[in-house]
Amino acid sequence: MKELVLPEHLAEKMEQLYQQMEKDYSNVARALEFSCEGCPDNCCDSYFQHHTYAEWAYLWHGLRQMPQEKQDQIRGWAETYIAECRKAEDKGERPQVMCPLNEEGLCILYAHRLLVCRTHGVPARMRRPDGKVMPFPGCFRCQDIVEEREKTGLKTPHVERTPLLMELVKVEDEFLEHKRHMYPRLKLTIAEMIVNGPPSIPTPHCER
Ligand code: SF4
Ligand code: SF4
Repeated sequence: MKELVLPEHLAEKMEQLYQQMEKDYSNVARALEFSCEGCPDNCCDSYFQHHTYAEWAYLWHGLRQMPQEKQDQIRGWAETYIAECRKAEDKGERPQVMCPLNEEGLCILYAHRLLVCRTHGVPARMRRPDGKVMPFPGCFRCQDIVEEREKTGLKTPHVERTPLLMELVKVEDEFLEHKRHMYPRLKLTIAEMIVNGPPSIPTPHCER
């Protein structure tokens, strides 16, 4: 299968998009005087699936910059992650397994981490294509801060994810050469993105 390589100009667009996400996140976090410092939790064990080929390819853009030995080690961690998730799912539980890119509490592919990793934490909103607005309350610690503020009448700032997601869809569309309909829908964990290798151009009857 032919690999789908993210062209440099789209990798740059992803970088800009991610920077904007971080800026929006920081503005809200600052307004709420919220940070992850001292948190007893680590969100990197939250179970998330990801949906764009562009993010998958950008993750690989970063992975490839690591020494082969490190990549092999990460692949091993990703295989363990997948096996642990299966065990939890077989018991009917939602998996809670540390991300294979988290080493000793820190993200080792920080500059290439995915959208969800950059937006979890503070309150956010997203308008779906059908017009419905989806609110995200932020993490449990942020919700406590919001609750205390609201008792004093303070309004809650939030990140507006819609424009950022629309930009991501544009990058995805260009990356897939305006043939998104030909690609299988994605629903992959970071571990699966690692173990599956970089994204590839689908062939007829190809399944992931
Ligand atoms: S986002 Fe919230 S729960 Fe996650 S590490 Fe930060 S403070 Fe803790
Ligand atoms: S990619 Fe990095 S920030 Fe995201 S869950 Fe994994 S370790 Fe955490």
